[in-house]
Amino acid sequence: MKNPVAPCLGLLLATTSALLAAPDPAWLGHDRDRPQPTVVDPGTLSSQEQAGRPPSDAIILFNGTDVSQWVALDGSPTKWVIHDGALECVPGSGYVRTSRSFGDCQLHVEWASPTPPHGDSQGRGNSGVFFGFDRYECQVLDSYQNKTYADGSAASIYGQYPPLVNVMLPPGKWEIYDIVWTAPRFDAEGNLVSKARETVFHNGVLVQNNVELTGPTGWIGRIPYKAHPERLPIALQDHGNPVRFRNVWVRELGNPRKPEYMLSNALLDSYVGSYGKDAFFKVRRLSDGLLALTVSNAPEVVLHAESQTHFYALTTDVQADFKTEGGKSWIEVTVGDGDHAMHGDKLAP
Ligand code: MG
Repeated sequence: MKNPVAPCLGLLLATTSALLAAPDPAWLGHDRDRPQPTVVDPGTLSSQEQAGRPPSDAIILFNGTDVSQWVALDGSPTKWVIHDGALECVPGSGYVRTSRSFGDCQLHVEWASPTPPHGDSQGRGNSGVFFGFDRYECQVLDSYQNKTYADGSAASIYGQYPPLVNVMLPPGKWEIYDIVWTAPRFDAEGNLVSKARETVFHNGVLVQNNVELTGPTGWIGRIPYKAHPERLPIALQDHGNPVRFRNVWVRELGNPRKPEYMLSNALLDSYVGSYGKDAFFKVRRLSDGLLALTVSNAPEVVLHAESQTHFYALTTDVQADFKTEGGKSWIEVTVGDGDHAMHGDKLAP
């Protein structure tokens, strides 16, 4: 039976339970009313010849034919190409990132370095899997008989943690990363509440055991944490080598939530401005793809994108839609269970 005093406590602890890994106090031991785990088809494992089938609850990020989940860092179309069922880095074209944002998650990535190999040390088959947009890198590198600094080799948390072992296959073979990512948490004032954590399996072998990141990864020196949204795109690095990727999928961890996207800079910029009589609504850009909305004299709220045109706030029940028709642009805002949207035409800048 459900503990009657638990809901408030449960809600309070739900946000931290993922971090503390404490049993949910809302349920008794062996509670018969506790919901059953969702049934998931595990899919199939990959072979060198063929990519496996992702678990049934995974979000497919790249299936060999469709690059629609990936964009350049600024949100414009990526210049990376699909070649023989793989997404291939075009040197000099920049990183790619997912259009969707992710917080805590399980990520599956398969990659292959160029063959025959070119270059040495950090110049051979270098790319990277980034969480937090471009902040936290798990290194991708051809580390097969290729000496480099240990904390920069394949499956290192770049500059922080070497992998526990080197389980590289020869160049050109498909390497598999299975990564569990726990995003860092910041409070409303931007103070660090908990550090990022990362677990990595390389070709099925544990190489990073829930390590605690010191901050964003970087070349030489320690970069301190700086507040950012919990959910951000996942990115793949262009380090000047035509590294290939296939069978990329992700499973969101924690409580189910609405999807969240990082829109292109160009689209976000187009929403900035004042709307309605006497500029009743004001919209401005924040960092990391967020918008800030001010309604009349109320405190500003931060808006997250749920689609190309629909935004929502995490702290207050505010929803905003940006609309354009016949050369006219306007905003529609609802607060709480308001049964009609407030409307404001966009004012000329
Ligand atoms: Mg790299």
